[in-house]
Amino acid sequence: MIKAVRGTRDLLPPDTELWNFVDHKVREVFARYNYHEIRTPLFESTELFARGVGEETDIVSKEMFTWEDKARAASEKSQSLTLRPENTAGVVRSYIEHELGRSGLLQKLYYIGPQFRRERPQKGRYRQFYQIGAEVLGPPTAGSELPIRDAEILDMLTALLDAVGLQGWTLYLNSVGCLNCRPAYNQALREALAGVKDQLCADCQRRAETNPLRVLDCKIPADQPIIEKLPKIADYLDDDCRNHFAQVRAILDTLEVPYQINERMVRGLDYYTRTTFEFTHGELGAQSAVLGGGRYDGLSEQLGGPKAPGIGFAIGEDRLVLALQAQLAQALAPLKAFVIPLGAGMNRHALKLTRELRASGITADVGDESFRMKKSFETAEKLGAKFVVIVGENEVQASAFAVKNLKSGEQTTVPRAELTRFLED
Ligand code: ATP
Ligand code: MG
Repeated sequence: MIKAVRGTRDLLPPDTELWNFVDHKVREVFARYNYHEIRTPLFESTELFARGVGEETDIVSKEMFTWEDKARAASEKSQSLTLRPENTAGVVRSYIEHELGRSGLLQKLYYIGPQFRRERPQKGRYRQFYQIGAEVLGPPTAGSELPIRDAEILDMLTALLDAVGLQGWTLYLNSVGCLNCRPAYNQALREALAGVKDQLCADCQRRAETNPLRVLDCKIPADQPIIEKLPKIADYLDDDCRNHFAQVRAILDTLEVPYQINERMVRGLDYYTRTTFEFTHGELGAQSAVLGGGRYDGLSEQLGGPKAPGIGFAIGEDRLVLALQAQLAQALAPLKAFVIPLGAGMNRHALKLTRELRASGITADVGDESFRMKKSFETAEKLGAKFVVIVGENEVQASAFAVKNLKSGEQTTVPRAELTRFLED
């Protein structure tokens, strides 16, 4: 049998309904914020990512699907091509190639589509995955650098998460400074790391030399106490960056967008300047980041284009859908207990007990004293109840109930006082 390649997967009905629902909401919400769709190729020249994402990043140094594409005719040259690992570099390349800045207006662009990274596949991490992203960029005269753009994009994200019904997210915010002030911070980090480097993991020992900022997003537990004590970026921002960040936060406060400052969040891409952010969700386990983004004021120039500051984000659609599914599963909590009144006059006792269970948060349903035991059990099975609780004369008098686990078949007598806790386990 030929199977889907490791790290890739089929999206099947009914899951595709949820994907389409998300796509639909994205188009609806983004249109209201005056964003328009851009579609760039799935592969680009390798150089674009090397220069745009950064040679030192995990993406470029170990995660790209790259191949040497042979010339087929004398007029063609062989070239190194790469499946896009992210879409910002492609959008900025397109902006430069088509001179989109010429209008003097801001370009507000969004995309939805697959990205490719050779990572270790696990829940929420695939080799072909999907991103929903948006970028706002343009000449500085269009106001592309201004804090209102940062706040607007974050506001749009909260509107989107609201529209798809995602609850329980956290927005982490930071400023990573700019080309003017980051060298001083990097220097301070290098100096601080020089003394403690030997106690860090192998990756961090290398990063301490090549790209000390990367040490901050190390996930190894043993390294954390050391990283906690490193210099903080907030103390190194120059006046412009400090002001910019203060204004972004002031607008967010007025819009009542909740956020937490996380000074260690530097994000994985080299091109970020000033504002960086991440939204996480508790249902996602280790892969908790639903989306990430930030400002990239120098990217266009780095790719040989005009000055075109910008800010953008990418949502991991696979993870967004996973979080929504987890939420849905919780909302449709399966039936915990089916309460069976046993014998005449037991309905009122059974209903009273059921009410108490429901009041303490347990999903419960109740039968009827006129049903035969066999029928009651069949009903409980069909409803998918985990437990059956029998309420007969003896049980009421003893204030202890016969409880049967329908999956394991195990039957126990549980005192009333312990019933809630027993059913919750
Ligand atoms: P992580 O720290 O989880 O590797 P990242 O910093 O590499 O994320 P970005 O490059 O900023 O992520 O991409 C933005 C979003 O795309 C992430 O927040 C995540 O939701 C999603 N994403 C990134 N890599 C994958 C992957 N391999 N599979 C599924 N989703 C992914
Ligand atoms: Mg990654």
